[in-house]
Amino acid sequence: MGQDRYARKCFDALCDLDNTGNSMMKYNWASQVKACLTSLGLEKLWDADISTLYELRPEFHARTSMQQREIDIEKVRNSERLKYYENCIPCEAGPAEYLKLNLPFHKSKMLSQARLNGNQFYCEKFLHQLDDSQECTLCNAYDRDSLEHFFIRCKIFAGTRSRTIMYYIHEHLNPHSPFQMLLNWETAEECNIFYTFIMEALRLRRTLIEES
Ligand SMILES: [Zn+2]
Repeated sequence: MGQDRYARKCFDALCDLDNTGNSMMKYNWASQVKACLTSLGLEKLWDADISTLYELRPEFHARTSMQQREIDIEKVRNSERLKYYENCIPCEAGPAEYLKLNLPFHKSKMLSQARLNGNQFYCEKFLHQLDDSQECTLCNAYDRDSLEHFFIRCKIFAGTRSRTIMYYIHEHLNPHSPFQMLLNWETAEECNIFYTFIMEALRLRRTLIEES
C-alpha cells in the first residue's frame, strides 16, 4: 500500500501512538494486533515483510486456534453450569467424534442433549427436567435425580439399561472415573446403543410422570 494512502497514514499514526507508550489499547487497533501477536509468541510478525507474513500464516492460525481452545476450556472449568462438560472435551481440537459419524439428525440431537444440556432433555414434545437438588422420585434408590443417576443407577431404567448400555458402563467406568466418560462416543454402534437407551428411558419416564 502506498505511503500516501489514507488507510496507510492512519495505520502509521496508530503505530506512532503505540510507540509513545501513551496509547489506550481499546482505542488503538494497531496496539491490539501487536498485543495479540505478542500473546501468541509471534512478535516477529509485527515488523515482518509481506513474504514472511504469508510464510508464517499457517503457524499464526495454528497458534490462534490453540490459544482460543485453551481459553474455552478454562471457561468451562470455571463455569458453574457447564463444569460437568469438562470431562467430555475432545482430546484433539475439533468436533467431538460422534459428530463426525454422519448420524441422522434426530440421533445426534438427542446425544448432544445428553452431553451439553445439563439435566434437561426435550424429547417428543416433552421437557424432561432432572433435578439433582432432590432425590429421584421414580425409584427408591435414595439417590439424587442427576444425569449420572439417569444413566447409571435409576432402578426404573434397569431393564433397558441391561439391554443397551450396561456393557459400556462396565467397560468404561471404574469407581473413580466421572460418568461423563460414558458420553465420549466414537463409533456409530455406541451412538445407536446410547440413543436407544435414552429414548426408551425417556418414554418410560414420561409415562410414569403422566400417570402419577
Ligand atoms: Zn431413580
